[in-house]
Amino acid sequence: MERPPFTMFAGSDEGLAALDELVGRSLAAVRAGLAERSGPLPTGGPLRVAADPEVLDEDAFPEEGVGDVAALEPLARAFAWGSVDLTHPATAAFLQCPALAVAAAADLVVSALNQSVDVWDSGPFAMELEQRVLRALCDLVGLPEGSAGVMTPGGSISNLLAVVLARDVAGSRLSGRDLSHGGPRESTGRLRVVCSRDSHVSVGRAVAAAGLGEDGAVVAEPDALGVMDAASVKRALAAIPVGDLPCMLIANAGTTDLGAIDRLEELSELAARQGMWFHVDAAYGGGMLVSSRLRGRFAGIERADSVTIDLHKMAWHPASASVLLVRREADFAPLHREAPYLNPADDESAGLPNRLGRTLETTRRADVLKVAAVFRAVGRRGLADLVDRCHDLARYTESLIIARTRLELAAPVSLTRVVFRYLPGRPEQADEVNAALRRRLLNEGRAVLGRTRRGERIFLKFTMINPLATERDIDELIAVVEEAGKEEERRVLLASR
Ligand SMILES: *Cc1c(COP(=O)(O)O)cnc(C)c1O
Repeated sequence: MERPPFTMFAGSDEGLAALDELVGRSLAAVRAGLAERSGPLPTGGPLRVAADPEVLDEDAFPEEGVGDVAALEPLARAFAWGSVDLTHPATAAFLQCPALAVAAAADLVVSALNQSVDVWDSGPFAMELEQRVLRALCDLVGLPEGSAGVMTPGGSISNLLAVVLARDVAGSRLSGRDLSHGGPRESTGRLRVVCSRDSHVSVGRAVAAAGLGEDGAVVAEPDALGVMDAASVKRALAAIPVGDLPCMLIANAGTTDLGAIDRLEELSELAARQGMWFHVDAAYGGGMLVSSRLRGRFAGIERADSVTIDLHKMAWHPASASVLLVRREADFAPLHREAPYLNPADDESAGLPNRLGRTLETTRRADVLKVAAVFRAVGRRGLADLVDRCHDLARYTESLIIARTRLELAAPVSLTRVVFRYLPGRPEQADEVNAALRRRLLNEGRAVLGRTRRGERIFLKFTMINPLATERDIDELIAVVEEAGKEEERRVLLASR
């Protein structure tokens, strides 16, 4: 076998020149793909996307390759054509942000050099950089000296890590046994986690994955605005069977639907009195800590034992960029492992650092480079301006909905999300009409709205995470929703005759 050409791999001098060329061609193809459509989504829905002939008809893993350019150009074009346009003002469903250009460029550097933040010799500068960025984030939250963190692929994984640490650290303390060795079955009582009814789906799944059972999470009822307070947690605690050990309290700083922030100060006090680990899921809200307008609402977050923040939400990083911050670095101890091929003890004591003991991962992408680049390029002020603009847009949307007789708000806007529904003439058709109007807009490629349920009713959701949208765009979006609502109302009425 001959040696392959250097241009085949990204990291060398020649490879970088080849990469430069490929990037230019790919971006041109992306622009061509985006120009082939007009709305935030391709029109025609899933069937139309599955029918893209140029790239999808072929064998996905052919015997012979076609070469870089011939492979990538049509894929990039189709990928762009078939993507959800996050810069489009009618995209307002998920906490999926338009990516900052500087962060996307940094991600390319990360991929080209393929560093890993597990042991020092797999990514020396990446490891140093991650320490500094995490320090800055601990400071932003207000965690004390001695706090530490780790970057993870998402809020779901950050929450899972928090549950694992709480189980082992607080569970061991409460049961008087070393659970990090024997596991939760060694506990003197069944370990339970208290969280809000409005917690993200990843919380219950993390509790189950940590071996605490599908019903290991005990739900506290938030108020009508989605806010959980100490009284509701006390009621949840009172309902836990005697002998069980509640070892963790998970609060929200920005719930998934209403953007509610739980009463963090009183919850932290209650958790401390009970010996429970206090975790704050700020996957959504954490990016808003830079805003002086909103910062005060997060008071108490600095008392957390751990905090989840997603930078791929309200900080405009391309996925993945999440962090778990932990109040005491030593609390990562249950994750520590020593492998002779990775982190022998004498290397460690000779000063070669590693981060294996902070995650469940080994190879770990250097997502930190984009975070460092964004923080340097945009600064706190720049990010705060983006946050405040989205908050303004949400409040503007709220005022429009209040003024429309055919639209109903579920709750006042807290952060950047607006939950509402269309009110058809016949109230009994509301759920069907709302569900159908959202699908209609998706299939037509006209608007991307979120959907959820409050109580027993279906609601729709705008997430204002696109700072490029204007008030005029929102006017238009509201009109489009009302129009689709009317059309669906007519259709449902005809079908019911
Ligand atoms: C988005 C979100 C998560 C999950 O984060 P991923 O990055 O999607 O894994 C968890 N909790 C809350 C409150 C969220 O908004």
